[in-house]
Amino acid sequence: MTRLATGFFFTLREVPAEAVAVSHQLLLRGGFIRPLAGTAGLYAYGPLMQRVLQKVSRIVREEMDAIGAQEGLFCQLQPADIWRESGRWAVYTQDGTMFTLKDGEGEHAREYGLGPTHEEAVCDFVRPYLNSYKQLPFSLYQVQTKFRNEKRPRFGLMRGREFIMKDAYSFHATPESLEETYRAMYGAYTRIFQRAGLDFRAVEADSGAIGGSGSHEFMALCDIGEDTILYCDPAGYAANVEKAVSLIEPPEPVASGSYALKPTPGIRSVEEQARMLGVPVSRIVKNIVYIALWADGREQPVLASIRGDRQINETKLKNHTGALDLRLATEAELAAWTGLKPGFVGPNAPIEGAIRIADRSVAELTDFSTGCNQNDVQCVGANWGEDGLVLPEVVDIDTAQAGDRCHLAPEYRLESARGIELGHVFKLGAQYSAPMQVLFTAENGEQKPVLMGCYGIGVSRLPAAVVEQSHDADGIIWPIAIAPYSVILVPANVQLEAQKQAAEELYAELQGAGIDVLLDDRLERAGVKFKDADLLGIPIRVTLGRDLEQGAVEVKIRRSGAVQKVPLTGVVAYLK
Ligand code: ATP
Ligand code: MG
Ligand code: MG
Ligand code: MG
Repeated sequence: MTRLATGFFFTLREVPAEAVAVSHQLLLRGGFIRPLAGTAGLYAYGPLMQRVLQKVSRIVREEMDAIGAQEGLFCQLQPADIWRESGRWAVYTQDGTMFTLKDGEGEHAREYGLGPTHEEAVCDFVRPYLNSYKQLPFSLYQVQTKFRNEKRPRFGLMRGREFIMKDAYSFHATPESLEETYRAMYGAYTRIFQRAGLDFRAVEADSGAIGGSGSHEFMALCDIGEDTILYCDPAGYAANVEKAVSLIEPPEPVASGSYALKPTPGIRSVEEQARMLGVPVSRIVKNIVYIALWADGREQPVLASIRGDRQINETKLKNHTGALDLRLATEAELAAWTGLKPGFVGPNAPIEGAIRIADRSVAELTDFSTGCNQNDVQCVGANWGEDGLVLPEVVDIDTAQAGDRCHLAPEYRLESARGIELGHVFKLGAQYSAPMQVLFTAENGEQKPVLMGCYGIGVSRLPAAVVEQSHDADGIIWPIAIAPYSVILVPANVQLEAQKQAAEELYAELQGAGIDVLLDDRLERAGVKFKDADLLGIPIRVTLGRDLEQGAVEVKIRRSGAVQKVPLTGVVAYLK
């Protein structure tokens, strides 16, 4: 459709009652999308929307290709078997995320799921052909419809049950190689969202149901965003609130050099917890992270353990990368560990005769745990700090909030913003390749599961985020890179032969010059056409009206509203 008079074109004057988000309202009003039979989360993309999606996809493809990823297309209808292999069939069917189907009856029945994500399908594609480290690394991607039975589909394209995603999967022999591709993807994502004209931030994120060891989300900043992010621009820090950490204000009054920490429930990796607690990992002694926890001004030691492992030691703790339990150590446990009497350790220990452990080596402390040397007994209690057991960077995962001090630069504070998740990059490691036996032979002859990364972008969510950020009272303001058309040509009155003729000629000329142009050749009042042009958000409007007698047209920039008279013969040059 490049001519409105002969195309199927409609706009709505009224704001549809069901639409709360501005992007949902404007995309419905501009005829970009229509719900299928009024069903939440199911939208048909009209011809204008399809052009936007194609432009977004083109940008995505260019940036994926530029970092060497190869485009494929993997099946949407997926046998349950591969999801059982990865261990996710139960997870995705029990929480209802996956639409499932059954084919056949009785013992011949086969179960399928409609792909909500494609780790399994891509692993299955790769595994028969992958044998040597020499084939690695490589990345595959696709742009395709995904299905997720979202509990609360809403905001139009923002959260659909059928939506378009670009998903990429990378395969590696070493963690370093995974890291390199992860960074390249991160760079590509940054360029994609910049090109789409978005105001966004990359934030540290939890890996969620997809799993893996590290991940970042790309968030469009926007009040209707469903995520909350905390960030500190001067320190270069940004994280999803679920992941965010901050320094806690020292309780007042406090001994110099001491910092506060609230007990942190939850399960984190050792490194993360050590970072969180502000201690070098080497200070994890035996099964005790021996830390003063300043909560309400008191200090308390905590006990670290690995689930299901009763024989835990320092080496195991240091090397452990999975889940870890942290809880407060009881006085009895501490007493047993240090060999000191209850009351000589922990919060109420007297200054004299208690333990100072900060500058002891692990070996000394381990030794200390078996037999107490009275000479080592120095000071504990309220005077931790300075050269005592210092907690320089103490963070609290659960309650980090706007206004907290940033742990990377204390002199700065965290700010908060709402964000729309545009994309997500994950380091998966062997999470899928191990259970699915995607193996390769390493340089030393060893057979190993390949290391993977996965990287998604909400291709159909992205334009909705753009509209949220870029609109005014009259309608959408598309950035030129993803606008359905760059230019809309409006003959004010097509009943005037001269205008009609000039419009046709200019239309042909612009098309010939490779400019993406839409002709509003409808038999409508100029006012109606202008309203529609504004609603559709076409970046440049060229009007052929009264000025034509002087051989001029009016060029209006949608975003700034700036209007300029341009000679008819110079329009192409002006727009180029
Ligand atoms: P959300 O937190 O919004 O539910 P997600 O974390 O479940 O998203 P991912 O599995 O990371 O999503 O998928 C990659 C990208 O796909 C997301 O960053 C998002 O842009 C997009 N996306 C996810 N779910 C939807 C949906 N229901 N409708 C439209 N886009 C979606
Ligand atoms: Mg989700
Ligand atoms: Mg998410
Ligand atoms: Mg995500």
